[in-house]
Amino acid sequence: MIQVYNTMDGHKVEFVPRDAGKVSMYVCGPTVYNYIHLGNARPIVVFDTIRRYFKYAGYDVTYVQNFTDVDDKIINRAQEEQSTASAVAEKYIAAYFEDVRALNVLKADVHPRVTEHMPQIIALVEQLLARGAAYEVNGDVYFAVENFQDYGKLSGRDLEDMLAGARVRVGEQKRNPMDFALWKAAKPGEPSWQSPWGEGRPGWHIECSVMSKEYLGDNFDIHGGGADLIFPHHENEIAQAEAASGCTFARYWLHNGFITVNDEKMSKSLGNFFLLREILEKFPGDVVRFYLLNTHYRSPIDFDDEKLQIAAKSLGRIRNAYLLLQELAEQPEASDASADAAMRRATETLRCCFAEAMDDDFNTALAIAAIFDYTKAINTYARQAEAATLADGLQLMEALDEVIACIKPQPAAGIGANDEMIGRLMDLIIEVRQQARQKKDWGTADYIRDALKDCGIALEDGADAVRWKLI
Ligand SMILES: [Zn+2]
Repeated sequence: MIQVYNTMDGHKVEFVPRDAGKVSMYVCGPTVYNYIHLGNARPIVVFDTIRRYFKYAGYDVTYVQNFTDVDDKIINRAQEEQSTASAVAEKYIAAYFEDVRALNVLKADVHPRVTEHMPQIIALVEQLLARGAAYEVNGDVYFAVENFQDYGKLSGRDLEDMLAGARVRVGEQKRNPMDFALWKAAKPGEPSWQSPWGEGRPGWHIECSVMSKEYLGDNFDIHGGGADLIFPHHENEIAQAEAASGCTFARYWLHNGFITVNDEKMSKSLGNFFLLREILEKFPGDVVRFYLLNTHYRSPIDFDDEKLQIAAKSLGRIRNAYLLLQELAEQPEASDASADAAMRRATETLRCCFAEAMDDDFNTALAIAAIFDYTKAINTYARQAEAATLADGLQLMEALDEVIACIKPQPAAGIGANDEMIGRLMDLIIEVRQQARQKKDWGTADYIRDALKDCGIALEDGADAVRWKLI
């Protein structure tokens, strides 16, 4: 039995899918106007792992994660970059896939984009208008929160309290300060679409109600996202979807905790963020993934490099034990009945403890602790265990890695099996170039750099060392 912490209930509940054996999941994706930072990466890794665990537990999972590809921030970025909103979105969607691939995140079954769902968005706004849940003012359409009885049920906020502190801002045409835009009339120079209310574009929240319905139906299993999305985004998604359909929107709401820096939430607006690609220059993607999963998804993570270094060491220990197991499973050494029995017991303990930890609201921290305990058993008993026992242990480790997805070493993209030798050759080439530079032989140094570039390899001259990367 899998228990999940449902934000709607405020406690853990048994997970019962809508359709037996199947899980439908929707997770809010990024607004693509910049590279993602570590705080953005956390929900991506968390829900990828939850999705992977459902598969491990035998469920058939449909996973949808959207891209917000039209938004004020994208329009502003297009103006800064003297580009178009769609070119900005394309650029950062490509960068997103590049970044999360390093974290071993699987692609969603569908990655819908707002701009590809305008007819469905307009249809839902029309439906809300027809039901009296929304109203139009000069080309803007607003959701009327007072007409939706359950407004505030996810975040536990009371509409009266919210109204007490809220004011309609100058320039807004709302009847009620908590009403929110479903459709915004076009402003000059902004991307816009034809609608029954004139040219315009959708508000932010409507897209997730529309795209989850499109791919998963009116009532689906799990809606995920960062805790910062609970209000207003998810509250508004519920209001829109339930006012239109009349039935419960998502059955379970899962939210991950923040990443903090010196106890402050990592965010673009506070300026205390680290781009994932900056971190990936210093640490491999599997270490970053391991670091994120080493804390329960609802707990905060306070970020610093030192903790990533500790994560790298811990993961290294697990990986070495895994590689030893792999080696011994191919070529067992000597067998001893009591060591073999101990190894078999350890394998069974891992199988149970891992499932128990993950069944309890996806406690990856405890699941990893169980793997860690198992590595001790490998180091102590594997050399004296029998081939069948080792094969069984290896098979389990590989199955668990389908969930955790950072234990098995990943071959570097494009290099493959020869990467270790290429690494040694690159060290040699860099050394030869450094010797040329020390002799002020700039011609040779530049020749090596340019010739490597022609081979698709870039050198970066750092303060303390020269690094190389594929381009
Ligand atoms: Zn959303």
